[in-house]
Amino acid sequence: MGFQLDILVRENIKALQPYSSARDEFTSKNVEMIFLDANENPYDNGVNRYPDPQQKNIKSVLSTQKRIREEQILLGNGSDEVLDLLFRAFCEPNKDNIISLPPTYGMYKVLSGTNAIENREVLLTTEFQPDVAKVLTKVDKNTKLLFLCSPNNPTGNLLEKEKIKELLTNFKGLVVIDEAYIDFSGSESWINSLNDYPNLVVTQTLSKAYAMAGIRLGMCYASEDIINILKKIKPPYNINELTQQRALKGIENSKALIAQIASILEERKRLIKKLGEIFFVQKTYDSHANFILAKVDDAELRYNQLIERGIVIRNRTKQPLCSNTLRFTVGTPKENTFLIKALKAI
Ligand SMILES: *Cc1c(COP(=O)(O)O)cnc(C)c1O
Repeated sequence: MGFQLDILVRENIKALQPYSSARDEFTSKNVEMIFLDANENPYDNGVNRYPDPQQKNIKSVLSTQKRIREEQILLGNGSDEVLDLLFRAFCEPNKDNIISLPPTYGMYKVLSGTNAIENREVLLTTEFQPDVAKVLTKVDKNTKLLFLCSPNNPTGNLLEKEKIKELLTNFKGLVVIDEAYIDFSGSESWINSLNDYPNLVVTQTLSKAYAMAGIRLGMCYASEDIINILKKIKPPYNINELTQQRALKGIENSKALIAQIASILEERKRLIKKLGEIFFVQKTYDSHANFILAKVDDAELRYNQLIERGIVIRNRTKQPLCSNTLRFTVGTPKENTFLIKALKAI
């Protein structure tokens, strides 16, 4: 049997009439209108009006850049909001379940907890790849979402294309591919495969390569049908005016970003090499992201020693398959040089 979106949607969401905001009902016809519909203060200060609930300007630029229709884009207050909307649209509390593949991004577990959804965890292999057969044995009729993070956080590797394809083909729920780090990977985004897989959802973010973590903007790309369901439950003004303005400026001027990303990739190479020369580093993992996972002799000790030298990294030792690992975000050349010096001094 093929993919059926209808049976995945929660009954209450199917029946839901979305909130219709004042600005939704009226579509401008290029004439100067007087807006007396939303109880705003009429005196212009740049932010006295409600923001565009459909964020048309941002979607228009993204649509061109990503070669995808605007109807296939949903924006969230960070991709974390997008992930939460997926839970709330498709997962019935205390009944449905999702599958995640640790070691991975912590929010899938947190969101399943806050939404009262069982999180079925299937460990990645020792190569940090999905164990496809094992994942499929965990699926039942209440399994609504499967989260794949590629490049994966905190391991930094890409998940193999063939494995993802197998999962997309054999799992009849939604496969959510979290591409927060895709711009560091040199690999093609799965958004180019949206037309091949009706159950594919891709999330990206402005928080990492785009250098705008502070404004909170995440993107969701999927079929128009999936996007329309998420639009029903999206808070109408979830992307504020300042964020919309700043995001537009940031994505239109990508020249500076391209140079920054190139530098980060250069520095990633340098850091991997230098980390390999440190006596307590046993192994560094190949990275397709802007961070490096390294196995050390004693993660707790080395973490604290770096703190003493004014450097904060992430201790991932408690994650499955990650005992005694540390995660280093690639900084500026100056910051990385400082880090290398500190590591050598230890
Ligand atoms: C950082 C990160 C995000 C970003 O979330 P935002 O809410 O968009 O800032 C999403 N997924 C993964 C795997 C991340 O590491």
